[in-house]
Amino acid sequence: MQGTSRSRPADPFRLLLVEDDRELVELLSDALEGEGYAVDVALDGHRGLHLALTRPYDVVVIDRGLPALDGLELLVRLRSRSVRARALMLTALGTVHDRIDGLDAGADDYLVKPFDLDELSARLRALCRRALELVDVLRIGAGHLDLGQREVVLPDGARVPLTAREFALLRVLAADPGKVHTRASLRRTVFQDAPSPSIVDTYVYYLRSKIDRSVVHTVHGLGYRLGAL
Ligand code: CA
Repeated sequence: MQGTSRSRPADPFRLLLVEDDRELVELLSDALEGEGYAVDVALDGHRGLHLALTRPYDVVVIDRGLPALDGLELLVRLRSRSVRARALMLTALGTVHDRIDGLDAGADDYLVKPFDLDELSARLRALCRRALELVDVLRIGAGHLDLGQREVVLPDGARVPLTAREFALLRVLAADPGKVHTRASLRRTVFQDAPSPSIVDTYVYYLRSKIDRSVVHTVHGLGYRLGAL
């Protein structure tokens, strides 16, 4: 949707597993970590909801039958809050109706228990490929920039709305973390060569006051790069 591509040098895919069967959780998280995923686990629907709303995941794997909040309801709530992570629904039920319910709720794929680990791996690889095509957040350390809402999501889940210019500046920095941008290049690309020579510094100041001092890092003598939250 956005023209930016996520830079992912050796970045693992981030996967959230929401499943209440502890034995299965142990098996799956070991296997998936072995395949290089960074795995977080939630043992009930409420915890899953909290994690998925506050951290950026590439893929969520959700068991349909969950305590506290049913898997379908969890997925509906995530979609209603614009969480776009690819979702794979697990279920012990295999009827056509259950499958349709899951897809209606916003699942991208569906797997019936008991399933083969290789089958799960293959489905997840396919979903991760698709997740890369859909960049809707850019990470800022432990927080992220929500491109759809134009808000910064802090590590504790709090959201900070940005003005159009603040968003444009932070988006350029976050799209290329690690890269040092000169004031001149930012003034040109973000502010269309606005006459004021200090406009970049002014907006960096706004971002820092609004979000946190650490969100933008000054590289002395050169310019700015993305910081961390
Ligand atoms: Ca269950």
